[in-house]
Amino acid sequence: MTTAHVHHRFATCHGQCAVAARYPEHHDRLLAVDTDADAVLELFEMAVTWHELDYSESEVAGPGDWLTFADEHRWSCAERAQRVFSLAVDIVGRGAVPPATDSGAQLADVIELARGRSGAYRQVSDSR
Ligand SMILES: [Zn+2]
Repeated sequence: MTTAHVHHRFATCHGQCAVAARYPEHHDRLLAVDTDADAVLELFEMAVTWHELDYSESEVAGPGDWLTFADEHRWSCAERAQRVFSLAVDIVGRGAVPPATDSGAQLADVIELARGRSGAYRQVSDSR
């Protein structure tokens, strides 16, 4: 059995952090962000869907905990871990604010982009 990608619970904070006390399972998943691309994807998926899905019944630490969590734990690459959690929080923040421009026009732009990438893109860019 390989232990290379196994994170032992509370390895870095010894269970002293708030997330460990409330959500031990999610605590481990958040720690796994350090070495496991799947854990990074899970975090980003949660961030993207934070305002769409109801996480109130889920045993997960929310965006309000993420930056503190990043600060409170040791990472193989601290800068990268900070960026991952900061990005996730940023994604949640963007979801909370409605788009400033008309979303109908934005959707039309996206459809044009999808139909003919370079030509449509030039057209869209020129119209602004
Ligand atoms: Zn912890």
